[in-house]
Amino acid sequence: MRSYASQSRVIAIDGPAASGKSSVARKLARQLGFIYVNSGAIYRAITWHLLQNRIGSDEEERISEALDSVALACVVRDSEARIVVDDVDAAEHLRDDRVNECVSRVSKLPRVREIVSEKLHDCAEGHDVVIEGRDIGSVVFPDTPYKFYIDASPEVRLQRRAAQGERDEITIRDHDDVSRAVSPLVKAKDAHLIDTSQVTVEQVVTQIMLRLEQAGLPIGDVQMINRAIGE
Ligand code: C5P
Repeated sequence: MRSYASQSRVIAIDGPAASGKSSVARKLARQLGFIYVNSGAIYRAITWHLLQNRIGSDEEERISEALDSVALACVVRDSEARIVVDDVDAAEHLRDDRVNECVSRVSKLPRVREIVSEKLHDCAEGHDVVIEGRDIGSVVFPDTPYKFYIDASPEVRLQRRAAQGERDEITIRDHDDVSRAVSPLVKAKDAHLIDTSQVTVEQVVTQIMLRLEQAGLPIGDVQMINRAIGE
């Protein structure tokens, strides 16, 4: 087990599928001048790689072997972490129907979670980051004082996904994510809960900024620096 001693600031944004995490996390990162990291993208990239190699989500041994031989890297570009699989930027494949269908089954495997956790710590090495996911505040960065849990009603989340035109059984994924044995989706005790059903992304970001300031993050300084560099 690796030990981590990063000095970076980590803002954890967890919550179920289509709760609004990505929009909020990306905008927040931009406003703060932090790097935006989507941890789901790493699980998706691994799932895509396994599908490419015709490895089933129940073939644990073959998955372990595939993970030992693949080169996975988090590369920061335009203030976002991108996931590169054997030198290929996986971005355009991450929301394929088959990836949507299989990702929760792949992400319940302990070896997969261990590798993604390592990649996330690599991303936070030397960068202040906003990381969205399912277990960022509860398991991956339990010591960060900046934790948020973003939720919305099931109806609103289903509508949002349908509006994106994707085939994505979010109810099944949520069930798998909540009920898995290793680092299930759960609100960390010290995470601040925000329901996004009736509010805009801007309102959520403002609410988070206020909480961050109360928690001791010097928001004013960050914004002043961003203005000075023209962000
Ligand atoms: O966030 P997104 O919906 O893209 O995540 C895809 C899947 O990756 C989730 O349904 C979940 O199974 C897995 N995931 C996870 N832990 C995270 C982020 C994502 O298990 N921190």
